[in-house]
Amino acid sequence: MQHDSLFWPYSKDGTYTVKTGYNFILKPHGSAPSTSTGQQTTFNWKKLWSIQAIPRVKDMVWRAVKNILPTNKRLAEKGLDVDLICPQCGLEEESVTHAILQCEEAKRVWFASPVTVHIPDSVDLDFADWISNVLTRGENDGIANVFNLMFALWRRRNVWAFQQSKMPIEETLGLAASWYAIKSPTTSVQDLVQSQNNDSQNVIVHFDASLKSGVGTGFGCIVTDRQGHFLGAATSIDSELLDSKIAEASAFRWCLGVLEAIGITHVDIVSDCLELVQAWKRGGIYNTYFHALVKDCIGLYSSFISFNFKHKSRENNAAANMLANVAFDVGEQLWLDELPQFLVNLVSPPADLADVVDFS
Ligand SMILES: [Zn+2]
Repeated sequence: MQHDSLFWPYSKDGTYTVKTGYNFILKPHGSAPSTSTGQQTTFNWKKLWSIQAIPRVKDMVWRAVKNILPTNKRLAEKGLDVDLICPQCGLEEESVTHAILQCEEAKRVWFASPVTVHIPDSVDLDFADWISNVLTRGENDGIANVFNLMFALWRRRNVWAFQQSKMPIEETLGLAASWYAIKSPTTSVQDLVQSQNNDSQNVIVHFDASLKSGVGTGFGCIVTDRQGHFLGAATSIDSELLDSKIAEASAFRWCLGVLEAIGITHVDIVSDCLELVQAWKRGGIYNTYFHALVKDCIGLYSSFISFNFKHKSRENNAAANMLANVAFDVGEQLWLDELPQFLVNLVSPPADLADVVDFS
């Protein structure tokens, strides 16, 4: 068994060679132990983070394993009004397993790639189990190939879903190969936990709540990159007219849920409610409804890799405030592909689709 001959045929002159019969990474049947279904506690996260792939590639695989990758099925489960069907084949519900492994479109790319993997057709194939097998049986380089290809497949899916354009298979393989060419240092889970002060890749999130007597409470949040490019926005509405402090804490909780649903893991969140930021930082006793909401938020906090929560004055929160007001008209909405018209004057520079697709 020549496990160590697994490689990506990416030559030094930058050309990409199509598979001519390379070795396999996985056998359909083998003696290696596999983890039991759905037992995420036994998932080898340390191994996942140790693979030599660039951080955003590993982030994407991590999100896929945690089932927080924003597939249509995942967004629908989070209560968003989206079509469940796979944007690529139009035949089945788009779960993570479908989008990355079982979709006929994904399979065509896997087949054309230099890594040969076994993808069972079984309807209850669990993505985390499948990746567990890859991590257990594959060599590090082979696994990096698999990860890079998954990221390229997700990129291809997003271009298809948001731009209605079909990335050629060769281009998809070339993308994966280009990431493989970048050797990043091995990152341990510990490094990631400690890297929370290194927030250069965090997106910026503003949220706000708005009260309208006789109608209820509106929520809004907006996500931009550090240069101010629009990445996404969402609104929601609560039919109760909440006390203003409770409204801010509820908006915070809702906002964290939205971020988790769309798979954002590195954030700097900004609130104009000083009491909320102070309650978050102070921790301690939770004996009021307000504090119970803060505690809920702390529970949601675990889905983020890098997280900062800051206070800024109200003037800096105009776009989120506008969204919270618009919520009364539009209800529950999510904008991921383009900047809504009503925000054009409040957000600049304008939306750049490439940033949206490359969401992490
Ligand atoms: Zn499909």
